[in-house]
Amino acid sequence: MDSIKKLKDLFVKFPTIGSRTAGRFAFYLLHASKQEVDDLVKAMQELKNNVKLCAFCFNPHEPFNTHSTSSGQAAQGKGETNLCHICFDASRNKELLCIVEKETDLLSIENTKQYKGLYFILGGTLTLRKTDGANLRIEELKDRIKKSSFSEIIIALNPTPEGKSTSVLVERALKEVIVPTIFKITHLAQGLPVGGELEYADQETLESAFEGRK
Ligand SMILES: [Zn+2]
Repeated sequence: MDSIKKLKDLFVKFPTIGSRTAGRFAFYLLHASKQEVDDLVKAMQELKNNVKLCAFCFNPHEPFNTHSTSSGQAAQGKGETNLCHICFDASRNKELLCIVEKETDLLSIENTKQYKGLYFILGGTLTLRKTDGANLRIEELKDRIKKSSFSEIIIALNPTPEGKSTSVLVERALKEVIVPTIFKITHLAQGLPVGGELEYADQETLESAFEGRK
């Protein structure tokens, strides 16, 4: 296949990238230096090789050592955790769980620096084509809740029609879980732009949506 077309077809698969932008990317790379292209290929390979999903919340992270030797060098192999920095952090409130659709929503909420609990990344929402939730991590979510003792579970899905129907599904799933502690289920307050997405909401709006959750 024509190399330019092949690359363009790959870029079209990226979120929000249409065919015209995909073409621009392909031509950009055609004229870029060999070093720049090599760096890009290397960065993509490192991403796939080094980044793992957190064993609790599915947040992508690079495994790190949980302690260092006195010389400052990381102890090899020992103390490595399969948890991300958030789940591993002892100062986080382990009684709060915030359910988000995707990684970028987690980052937006983290950026507000208001929320100090844990997260769970659902991995998507219901869509017109996938209405059974089979593409979502519902079973994993139930499993995490059974093994923890949350006092509050915040459903922080996007205020889109897909996000709303997914919230209903998640809430139903949460109510099916029988756990030793009773937790309350809350939702972000109104005020987020209707049909908008958390990742595009400004920090202030997101902060007040969190504060006013009910
Ligand atoms: Zn985690």
